[in-house]
Amino acid sequence: MHLFQKHFCAIAMSMWAVSAAHAAPLVEPTLHIKPEAGGSGRVALTLDACGGRTDTRILSALVENRIPATIFVTGIWLKRNAAAVEIMRAHPDLFELENHGGRHVPAVDTPRKIYGIRAAGSPAAVLAEVESGAAALAGTGEPAPKWFRGATAEYSPSAIAMIRKLGFKIAGFSINGDGGSLLGAKETARRIAAAKDGDVIISHINQPTHAAGEGVVQGLLALKAKGFTFVRLNDVDNFGNDGTTD
Ligand SMILES: [Zn+2]
Repeated sequence: MHLFQKHFCAIAMSMWAVSAAHAAPLVEPTLHIKPEAGGSGRVALTLDACGGRTDTRILSALVENRIPATIFVTGIWLKRNAAAVEIMRAHPDLFELENHGGRHVPAVDTPRKIYGIRAAGSPAAVLAEVESGAAALAGTGEPAPKWFRGATAEYSPSAIAMIRKLGFKIAGFSINGDGGSLLGAKETARRIAAAKDGDVIISHINQPTHAAGEGVVQGLLALKAKGFTFVRLNDVDNFGNDGTTD
C-alpha cells in the first residue's frame, strides 16, 4: 500500500470513529397535557402541515364541530395554502398555529436520514430550520410561536437543548393517530378514538388524498360523542420528557 493510501485510510477511519461517537441515539419525545380528572376526559389535538395541500375534510369537520387544534405549519405549507390559513385565522378560538420548521428538515444536528428524509445535519442548519419556521409565521401576521415540532418528530438530544435555548417548547405526542398519514381510515379512527384523558394526538392535515384523513374525522367525532373535550397546547399545562417542556 502506498503511503498516501495508508494515510488516507487512517484519516477516513478516524473520521468515521468521530462521527459514530457523535451520533447519539435520536429521541422521539412524548407529551401529555394535564388530565382533567373528574370529567369525561380531555385531549389535545395537534395536526402537522408539513408541505403539500390542505385536507379540507379535517378542516371543515373541526370548524363544524367546534373542535380546537394546534396546527404545526412549515414555511413551505404557509406559502401554498393561503385559503386554509384564512379559515384558521377566521376562527382564532379554534386554531393556534405553531412552528413546524421552515423547510421540513429534521432537527437532528448530525448528517443522517430519518424515514428517508435528510436531517439538518449541523447545529447551524437546525437553527436555520427553527428560526425560518418562526419567521414564516411572523410574516403572515401570526403571534410569535411558542412551540416547535421538527419534521419526523425525532431529535438529537443536543438539538433539543439548542431549540429550548431559543425559547421554544418541543411538541412531542402520546398518540400517533395516523402513522405519518399512511394508515388506513379504520386504523386511524381506532387509534384516535382510543385516546385517554391527558393524551396529545398527532396527525396530519396536509394529505387530502390519503384515506387516513377520513379516519382522523371519524376518530375525533367518536371522542366527542364519548364526552371528551379538546384543548390546545397553549391552553393547558403540559408535560414532556427528554427535557422538552420543563
Ligand atoms: Zn411534518
